[in-house]
Amino acid sequence: MIYFCIKNHDYINSVQTGIQIFYPNTNYIKVDEISNTGITIESIAHKDFCEAIMYIDGSKKASDSYEVDKTSNKGVKMAVKSAIYMLLSKETGYYPKWGSITGVRPAKTAGELMESGFSEEETVKYFMDKFFVSEEKARLAVTVSKAEEKILSLNKDGDVSIYIGIPFCPTRCLYCSFTSYPLDRYSKVVDSYLDKLIEEIKFICSLIKGRRIMSVYIGGGTPTSLNEVQLERLLKAVNENIDLKEVLEFTVEAGRPDTITFEKLKVMKKYGVERISINPQTMNQKTLDLIGRRHSVEDIKNVYKMARDVGFKDINMDVILALTEETAEDVRYTMEEIKKLAPDSMTVHTLAVKRASRLKEEFENYELTQTKEIEKMISISAKYAEKMGLRPYYMYRQKNMAGNFENVGYCKEGCEGIYNIEIMEEKQTIIAAGAGGTTKVYNKDKNLLVRAFNVKGIEEYMGRFDEMLERKKEALKNE
Ligand code: SF4
Repeated sequence: MIYFCIKNHDYINSVQTGIQIFYPNTNYIKVDEISNTGITIESIAHKDFCEAIMYIDGSKKASDSYEVDKTSNKGVKMAVKSAIYMLLSKETGYYPKWGSITGVRPAKTAGELMESGFSEEETVKYFMDKFFVSEEKARLAVTVSKAEEKILSLNKDGDVSIYIGIPFCPTRCLYCSFTSYPLDRYSKVVDSYLDKLIEEIKFICSLIKGRRIMSVYIGGGTPTSLNEVQLERLLKAVNENIDLKEVLEFTVEAGRPDTITFEKLKVMKKYGVERISINPQTMNQKTLDLIGRRHSVEDIKNVYKMARDVGFKDINMDVILALTEETAEDVRYTMEEIKKLAPDSMTVHTLAVKRASRLKEEFENYELTQTKEIEKMISISAKYAEKMGLRPYYMYRQKNMAGNFENVGYCKEGCEGIYNIEIMEEKQTIIAAGAGGTTKVYNKDKNLLVRAFNVKGIEEYMGRFDEMLERKKEALKNE
């Protein structure tokens, strides 16, 4: 548990996330007075500089400060973060590779700097000087920004993407915070959910008639939780309502190997799905068992082979680093096994302890991976990606992520996940169908993003269906 208190400013989130970099996976408590027990970090804004002070058991241990850049409207906020960074890096002896950056999209910041006239080298230097980022990560942000730009340049005015959510899974994984309902309890409602979902897809298509649909992404949950008949029904409806000839990418996040069958793969192929995701998360059986995935490593390999046999040429695999009780050597083993399979893209996440997950509830029962070990894991995965001929093309970071790390999508040239980039960069309207889906309406002229949420509960979604449609219609008026 870490206490923090704040004087003369309101940047609570900046202080907490700044502390979180150095003391991940613990509880952070805002207090008004220095605590008599444990660590308290105090952040104070003075006229020309910001100060960070560390107290242990109520006694002052160390302090540091950073000058406010008065030419920037973010000067105080940056100085608050920098002072905390400088204090805690010295006190912990840990110099995180992403420096003081805690934002979700470092590549977007890099892109904005380059758009404003910075050269690549100047952008790298800015990241290193202002945010204490290592050269390696600064270059990663620039590389990803350029790869994203290649895809974003395909955007034409009026383009949209569509997200379709299937919020069911066979069981709930330990770390899951998504909208996901276990099939053993919800199988009876799947057909009526599909009725509504298909109705929503039709409604969306009528709203955006005449516009190009750039990408269609069926995610979840686990879309392949649907049985063969249900999956065919959904994909047939997509084909009947969307002209797939125009669509640049059609993805189904098949996800868990225990839901994928030869028949489902054939159905997906028949209805024009080009890109699928088969997500092992780890190739270590002991971890799969621990996180509640109820399938074997062999299942992953078999399903992958089956997908290739059916003719899928664009297969993504998701991996999660820092899963409970894994070491860097476990990650190396996972990477070695994935390399043998040779997917076209690989997305490497770092475990985030989310509020809605079982992991958060059962926090005390698990020993979470330490930051230095995670750095090793990230470096192993980056090296293996390179060996596999995959280069970074998108990246995002999450709040509550162990340490201060990134999730990176790597791919072979030409296999960039278009939807992944669009959802991350928020430069295109994305309309979501299904429980828990978020529609993001982008207004290019105003550089404005308006969100419309679908409710998360299945029954609620079906019961308040008309309201969901109305919300979308209203949100689209902001384009
Ligand atoms: S497969 Fe994904 S959506 Fe389903 S329970 Fe596991 S983490 Fe959640």
